Amino acid sequence: MKVAPVPSNEQERLATVAQWCVQHQEQSSELRALVELARHYFSAPICLVSIVGECQQWFTARAGLETPGTARDVSFCAHTILQAQPLEILDAAADPRFADNPLVTGEPGIRYYCGAPLRVEQRVAIGSFCIIDTAPRAALNDAQRGMLLAFADMAMQIIAGMRRNNFHDQATGLFNRLKLECDVGAGLDRGQSMTLLAVDIMSAEALSELIRGLGYNFAHDLTLQAKSRIASQLQSGLSLYKISPTRFAVLLEDAAAVLPLCQRILQALQAPAQCHQIPVLLDAGIGIAPITPLEDERNSLEWLRRAVAAADTARRSAGRHAWYQTEVDAAQRRAFMLLTSLAQALHSEDELSLHLQPRVELPSGECRSAEALLRWRHPLLGDVSPGEFIPLAEQTALMANLSLWVMRAVLRILQCTRGLDFSVSFNVTARDLESATFMDTLLAELQRQAVAPGRVQLEFTESVLMEQPEEVHQQLQRAGQAGIAVAIDDFGTGYSNWAYLTRLPASLVKLDRSLVQRSARGGKEALLVQSVVSLASSLGYQVAAEGIETAEQLAQAKDWGCAEAQGYHIARPMPVEVFRQWYCRTRLSGPLA
Ligand code: C2E
Ligand code: MG
Ligand code: MG
Repeated sequence: MKVAPVPSNEQERLATVAQWCVQHQEQSSELRALVELARHYFSAPICLVSIVGECQQWFTARAGLETPGTARDVSFCAHTILQAQPLEILDAAADPRFADNPLVTGEPGIRYYCGAPLRVEQRVAIGSFCIIDTAPRAALNDAQRGMLLAFADMAMQIIAGMRRNNFHDQATGLFNRLKLECDVGAGLDRGQSMTLLAVDIMSAEALSELIRGLGYNFAHDLTLQAKSRIASQLQSGLSLYKISPTRFAVLLEDAAAVLPLCQRILQALQAPAQCHQIPVLLDAGIGIAPITPLEDERNSLEWLRRAVAAADTARRSAGRHAWYQTEVDAAQRRAFMLLTSLAQALHSEDELSLHLQPRVELPSGECRSAEALLRWRHPLLGDVSPGEFIPLAEQTALMANLSLWVMRAVLRILQCTRGLDFSVSFNVTARDLESATFMDTLLAELQRQAVAPGRVQLEFTESVLMEQPEEVHQQLQRAGQAGIAVAIDDFGTGYSNWAYLTRLPASLVKLDRSLVQRSARGGKEALLVQSVVSLASSLGYQVAAEGIETAEQLAQAKDWGCAEAQGYHIARPMPVEVFRQWYCRTRLSGPLA
């Protein structure tokens, strides 16, 4: 078998293939109709549009053949691309170049082949349009040859149309992300180092607000203005890509040109844009990421992720441009990794568990309740604190599943400790209460498992600004009406204030440990905390002091009139079984405080 020699313009040819075709793309219906038509016209069992890549040929359209491609070594079309005219083999079994080719000796058993090269600008052949028979044939006559060439021409026109669709962003007419991927790939093939600029014109949230307030047309026209401002700063030869609704990209080979270009683009985006007679300030930032052939990560699109990560930092930095930095990125990657493994943790047997931390009543010191705190042992990272993963989960739909998991685990604990006289509180976030689902499930499960609602308490923290405060209040109200007590957690931090407190149907206020610890400084600080406690008490709330670490703090909490205390001084959070033993022991030996 004779393997087709590599064409003399192979580098240029491969770059053209990369620019024109996308491998693994679904067959287009037009190309598919064309090969069916040709198969019919020539009464041939097989007709293909084959693109010849570096090591393989792949069929962007095929009729009469299942295989999506073959190795280039055995490809007939790899021979076709070497010549200007169609290549016709009347009987492959009698042709020394092909007689022992596995496509001839085995499936599909090629005997007749005629392929017309698919040419870009009459110079570079990217593949061929071919008909194949499994029996030898006579040569095509002139009219038939003419038809084959016409079919090849039509195929090229369809491929050009696909290229326009594949590689262009419809809204701006710019190249799109796929084209950027192809261009980076072609650069890496040439061994070229490059720098990618990801130009964000505003945050995704700002864009959706703009669309909500002023409509799609407005946002579209604003994007077009940003596009022309950026494009006006590019030297000839540089392309502008549109890679997401808020993000443009520029690929540079000249490292020295990077910073001056960033500055020019940022300057150009600085003045307010006049859009529909409304001046709009853009909020631009540029992320810069080097791409080197040494660490060729084209398949994972790592280079793109880096530029985008840097762009996020850039908008918040003084100069509004930021190089990709491993450390900043490491935090983002950890967050991402935690979120993906958290989804798995929810389905694993032993990664998540609950610890219980006793809460004691004051002044008696008796323990009648405990707070359930989530624990996560990651298989690789070990223990991850809820202080780290809960705020991450809160930004995603995972939080709902996590809260349901905790709720079910709490109910299991309460079922197993039916004889013991204590209640368990657990933490819920505003997100859990923005729809009725969570409360519906809680109420249904309490009833199903015959657990008295009075044994459950919800600790609610307004850690994120509530998007639907009305719904949240309504759900807390439902809890109250069902006999489930509601506590306001971490009071004195975050968004909590008196106005908010009086709106929430809560009976207990948990003073955050930062307040308790501030009071240790004495003077005004202590007076402040004391006033908070007495004001809350006079408004009818019970007050619990969190983070009690010393005997003095406990004595102080008693003095202030706190109804409850919780903290390391009393006991640390502990596994459920350890808590059960602790509880029984202290019940026997008497109050702790
Ligand atoms: P939180 O609800 O205010 O829980 C009290 C936190 O303070 C717990 O931290 C507890 O271990 C810690 N703590 C208790 N006593 C002391 C003390 O004397 N000194 C000090 N320094 N710390 C003390 P943890 O378990 O790390 O939880 C942190 C936060 O994560 C919780 O604060 C809560 O907001 C959140 N969280 C924990 N579990 C869950 C959960 O199941 N669901 C939700 N939504 N949030 C949870
Ligand atoms: Mg809590
Ligand atoms: Mg707290």
